[in-house]
Amino acid sequence: MEFVSEPTTLSSTSHREIAADLLERHFGYKTFRPQQFEVIDHVLRGKDAVVLMPTGGGKSLCFQIPALAFEGLTVVISPLIALMKDQVQALQGNGIPAAFLNSSLNFGEERLIHQQLRHGELKLLYVSPERLFQQGFLDQLLEMNVCLFAVDEAHCISSWGHSFRPEYKQLSVLKQRFPQIPVVALTATADRTVRSEIGQLLRMREPRTFISSFDRPNLSLAVLPGQDRWKAIERIMGRHLGKCGIIYCNSRAGAEKLAAKLQGIGVKAAYYHAKLDPEERSRVQDDFIQGKLHVICATIAFGMGIDKSDVRFVIHYNLPGTVEGYYQEIGRAGRDGQPAETILFYSYADVQTHMHFAEEIEDPRYKEVVIAKLDRMKEYAQAQACRRTILLSYFSEESGEACGNCDVCKDPPKYFDGTVVAQKALSAVVRSGQKLPLSVLVDVLKGTHSPAVSENGWQRIKTFGAGHDTTAFAWVQFIQQFIHLGLLEVDYRDHHHLIITRAGEAVLRGERQVGLVSPETIKERQERPKRSRQVVAEPSAAAGNLLAALKELRREIAKQMGKPAYVVFSDASLIDMAEKAPKNIYEFRLVNGVGDHKAAQYADRFLAAIAAHLLS
Ligand code: ADP
Ligand code: ZN
Repeated sequence: MEFVSEPTTLSSTSHREIAADLLERHFGYKTFRPQQFEVIDHVLRGKDAVVLMPTGGGKSLCFQIPALAFEGLTVVISPLIALMKDQVQALQGNGIPAAFLNSSLNFGEERLIHQQLRHGELKLLYVSPERLFQQGFLDQLLEMNVCLFAVDEAHCISSWGHSFRPEYKQLSVLKQRFPQIPVVALTATADRTVRSEIGQLLRMREPRTFISSFDRPNLSLAVLPGQDRWKAIERIMGRHLGKCGIIYCNSRAGAEKLAAKLQGIGVKAAYYHAKLDPEERSRVQDDFIQGKLHVICATIAFGMGIDKSDVRFVIHYNLPGTVEGYYQEIGRAGRDGQPAETILFYSYADVQTHMHFAEEIEDPRYKEVVIAKLDRMKEYAQAQACRRTILLSYFSEESGEACGNCDVCKDPPKYFDGTVVAQKALSAVVRSGQKLPLSVLVDVLKGTHSPAVSENGWQRIKTFGAGHDTTAFAWVQFIQQFIHLGLLEVDYRDHHHLIITRAGEAVLRGERQVGLVSPETIKERQERPKRSRQVVAEPSAAAGNLLAALKELRREIAKQMGKPAYVVFSDASLIDMAEKAPKNIYEFRLVNGVGDHKAAQYADRFLAAIAAHLLS
């Protein structure tokens, strides 16, 4: 059974059969990734969903499978023109009729797509928001059998997000004009505040939020002091000889200089930034993907939509402005699941640079957002708690144990039992009705009759002054640790009030202990240089001549077709192919990423190459 009439009332079991069949036939994948099927099942019922998945988690299939299952057209709104083309080419590579409409098309190309639309020949249409709201286009869509809207990069709709797009705000009209059509919004980066806004701003009806784990346990996390960066980088290069990595810099000049220095010590390095012309940019990208270049020194422009699985390290030469951006960038390392190393250099000068830019922002609300985000990044860099726990609690994910794969876990400070200290603060938060920002909480704990305290009558809170014997500085340090440990959260939309989490409630009830680092230890450790640690990536079992031969063949085929290599097969597919070394079409069909279309198109050539290799 190919199509289901939208929306369906079938059971989840039937949905699973339909979805698994489409997954195998069109994409050649055997199993769903976590949360993919749950989202698909929900969308097939015609319901709205907000989907949070880390980069590389497989968001696209969450709407592509329903698009194939539904009878009509799925409209995908995406702000990134370059990625649109990639996705459409990848779909076409799997034999799925898809197209995109954005400002990069010429008149003739555009007319052809409109023709296909009128004839109902397309399953997926990608559009930029500008294009969607161009005059008359929504009316045109009303005439067509639209059955699903997917809003990609959905965090752009929230002005609290780190990349707000004003035209995304208008997407609220989708639900007004197409009230019956389900909407699925997807993002890899949204804190709690942004997440709750997405559903509201899109006017979704009782949306369900799906969150995949953001944890990437194979990535080691470390923060190094910003002094002597070059020496540290030389050491890092030494332990990743011939391996691929990305170094993010905050300026074009910085990226260029660093690339030259690396070339000077014999590293195959290049730089990449927005000022390069498009040809040069795609050359650098291709060379990196094919392993001809090992290290890219880049501004944030690099890495979006690049499907390269064997990036062994990501270095932040400068402090990023937001935790979301940082996490997305380190997420480009170790996508193959093998160990990969991430290092952040932290210097106060970088904080000042960011602050300098922030000061120039005119819109006061936006300025506040930028500064608050920078604060969180700074706190992360300075923190003395397990860094993974901090990151996961930033994305509102509870994590139990310390990770064992970050610099703090590997070289832990001394902790003392801070349960009672925590209970004092948490109880004040609860007794205030969760109405205290951090500085006022310190006043309450210290018993200070500040204006903020007197105006609200906080001196009547039972725990007022309960922490008078601890300095205000120490309280700030402790409260920040409570936030890092996921006991408290900051509600940025509501005056930065502190809110208690489930984990925090458990502490209050005495069900959970809290280990704290003393403010003296924090100071001491921040001043002492840290040792960086050896992380050795294990060579993948598939690494070898066959893989190289398969990559060479992929390159040839892609060149003949005039398409990027990943349209033929992804790295992950080739690795799987090299491991399985299929001898016939049946075995070939079992390789991850080989669907009907690709089997028909490429089996002969790849099987021949594998046979030739096995004979040699
Ligand atoms: P995201 O948009 O979340 O960054 P994508 O949708 O681009 O991620 O998927 C990342 C990669 O994972 C793609 O190469 C995709 O084909 C692959 N992928 C997605 N789902 C699966 C699956 N169920 N099995 C195998 N590979 C998958
Ligand atoms: Zn850790």
